[in-house]
Amino acid sequence: MKIVILGSGTSQGIPIVGCSCPGCTSPDSKDKRLRVSVYIETDRKINGKPLRLLIDTSPDFRQQMLLNNVTDIDAVLYTHYHIDHIMGMDDLRQINQLHRKVVEIYANAETAERIKQTFSYVFDNDTYRGGGIPDVELKIVTEEKFKISGLEIIPLIYRHGPTTVYGYRIGDFAYMTDCNFIPESEYEKLKGLKVLVLDALRYRPHPTHFSIDEAAGEAIKIGAEKTYFTHITHDVVHEEANAKLPPGVELAYDGLTLEI
Ligand SMILES: [Zn+2]
Ligand SMILES: [Zn+2]
Ligand SMILES: [Zn+2]
Repeated sequence: MKIVILGSGTSQGIPIVGCSCPGCTSPDSKDKRLRVSVYIETDRKINGKPLRLLIDTSPDFRQQMLLNNVTDIDAVLYTHYHIDHIMGMDDLRQINQLHRKVVEIYANAETAERIKQTFSYVFDNDTYRGGGIPDVELKIVTEEKFKISGLEIIPLIYRHGPTTVYGYRIGDFAYMTDCNFIPESEYEKLKGLKVLVLDALRYRPHPTHFSIDEAAGEAIKIGAEKTYFTHITHDVVHEEANAKLPPGVELAYDGLTLEI
């Protein structure tokens, strides 16, 4: 399975428009962060090609496809309805047109409802479907595991302040963005991971995201072989922050590609 971090930045993206802090003016390409999303080429084959999954459609989705040469997606898994995670959905149109197929999108009931409101033109049956709107099939995810073309997906359900977020485990990979509390029930589902991608916003505590210290504690508790932090703000300068993390824990960065 190949995993590509398409974006590792918090909701504004880094650099932040008009900000001249050290993070925003850093010359290191790892300090340029598009909004969070991940692309997964699984080892499951359909018609001889790998099943391709995307987690969230960020506002930077089109740019992320171009930068990473992503030209096909079979299904999108949504974590939650916050705008930095859904706003690029319209750009699935190009996948529809290139491959003449509908893209399945998976979301929990609350997220699905908000997606329908935000993209009412997509779900309104009166809209003219002349190629100008994405052609998606919305499927509801519950706490039960489910399959996409035979590949098992395990939902991971946790808190992000007042919002419930669904992370996903696919084989030995788990993705948990936008998180500040993991219920005890979920740790069982996180055993034996090779790679975990986990929310770690900044050094200072935040009401809806793990800080770097909190995320490092969770990374040690979960015990994946490798943990990468994502959804990072401009307070965090890659090289200096990365050097202080515990063994087996690193900051993710845009374009980071992992094979497991
Ligand atoms: Zn800044
Ligand atoms: Zn969020
Ligand atoms: Zn977010």
